[in-house]
Amino acid sequence: MSEHKPKTMGQQLGRRSWAEPWKIKMVEPIRMISRSEREKAIQEAGYNTFLLRSEDVYIDLLTDSGTSAMSDRQWAGLMLGDEAYAGSRNFYHLEEMVQRYYGYKYLVPTHQGRGAEHLISQSVIKQGQYIPGNMYFTTTRLHQEIAGGTFVDVIIDEAHDPYNEHPFKGNIDLAKLEALIDRVGAENIAFVSLAGTVNMAGGQPVSMANVKALRALCDRYGIKIYLDATRMAENSFFIQEREEGYADKPIAEILKEFCGYTDGAWMSAKKDNLVNIGGWVAVNDEKLFDKLRNMVVIYEGLHTYGGMAGRDMEALAIGISEMVEDDHIASRVNQVRYLGDLLMAWNIPVVRPIGGHAVFLDARGFYPHIPQDQFPAQMLAAQLYVDSGVRAMERGIVSAGRDPQTGDHRYPKLELVRLTISRRVYTQAHMDVTAESVMAVYDSRQQTRGLRMVYEPEYLRFFQARFEPL
Ligand SMILES: *Cc1c(COP(=O)(O)O)cnc(C)c1O
Repeated sequence: MSEHKPKTMGQQLGRRSWAEPWKIKMVEPIRMISRSEREKAIQEAGYNTFLLRSEDVYIDLLTDSGTSAMSDRQWAGLMLGDEAYAGSRNFYHLEEMVQRYYGYKYLVPTHQGRGAEHLISQSVIKQGQYIPGNMYFTTTRLHQEIAGGTFVDVIIDEAHDPYNEHPFKGNIDLAKLEALIDRVGAENIAFVSLAGTVNMAGGQPVSMANVKALRALCDRYGIKIYLDATRMAENSFFIQEREEGYADKPIAEILKEFCGYTDGAWMSAKKDNLVNIGGWVAVNDEKLFDKLRNMVVIYEGLHTYGGMAGRDMEALAIGISEMVEDDHIASRVNQVRYLGDLLMAWNIPVVRPIGGHAVFLDARGFYPHIPQDQFPAQMLAAQLYVDSGVRAMERGIVSAGRDPQTGDHRYPKLELVRLTISRRVYTQAHMDVTAESVMAVYDSRQQTRGLRMVYEPEYLRFFQARFEPL
């Protein structure tokens, strides 16, 4: 009898289904415009999904940045905003939450992640120094370069192969790091820039064993480690799931242990921290804290708000406490995996294993006939929008930008389109609609041509560049 019944996705995958640990209290209507309207919209946006109007988007998978749904507790927290210019009570609540869950001593709030990157880069990088890290991130590397540094990628080779199933593709290759130290000297390394998870590699985690070994290596040379903690809660989930000895440890404990191997962190609170705006930098060294706290007043705001309203800091403090709940983070990562599992079951080329915040489509696998300098991932994102109103983001040659020395495009090995899942926003049915659209675009892949760039801004070109079809 039972084998004749339709199966749920969980049953098809041989496991019991999970469900979100929340229910919906308020809805935001969305609508799909017609195909001809979408064709017109993408043309007007110069084939750049960043330049579309949100109103013209049906399911928005551009980014998970600042797009989370806040909880009723966070919304209630907004009413507790203490909008004093100095010493807001919400700042002290935020400071307490960062100390409790991340474990760093000193906190400086900023308006968002890049504000924090700016402060830490300017405070610790000397002209001509190197910053090794586990794959670049767009804004992070740019701030390091503006501060006079040179970013060097020391991630393990497996991270550059979209089909390698390594469980911790975010790991640092310690031999690559040591070779760099030998070549340039420890005194010319500003710090190790460690990110968990690694966004550009597909949301791939760093293992606890790797950060422990990294700490030991850096201690031998007297090098500091600063963490991009933007998605460290998701990274902690992968450690709990995949690393021996962590299966019974709560996310909160894993997060704190991991951060304990680093000297400080910067944060885009718009991701893991479940708020729509905000960021912070936190360190253990008092002298560095002094510098950061002094600098924040020039660029962001007083050191007890750093560009955030009191109410925003309250929502952020509450968001941190919700972020570390085990059932929250499990459902968050499992929703991403639900979409990824569907696409893999249909043999659509995606980065493996499925990462923590997004499913990454391999544009080379879709369009082997489009050369990288005709922007295959950019075109794939445009095609997906035209098919269904699903908005994704290019993470390939356009995002990689140009080499500041030679002026040529950087040609990254990964030419990807990111389907980024907002936290607590979309349902399983939205994931099904998205997967079906990806399938339709994959089926028409042979007819698709590349693009030509007709406008290129100087910095972070992927945000504003414009294209035309060839
Ligand atoms: C988003 C992000 C940043 C930058 O933060 P913003 O809040 O967008 O300024 C830095 N690092 C990583 C890994 C990110 O995903």
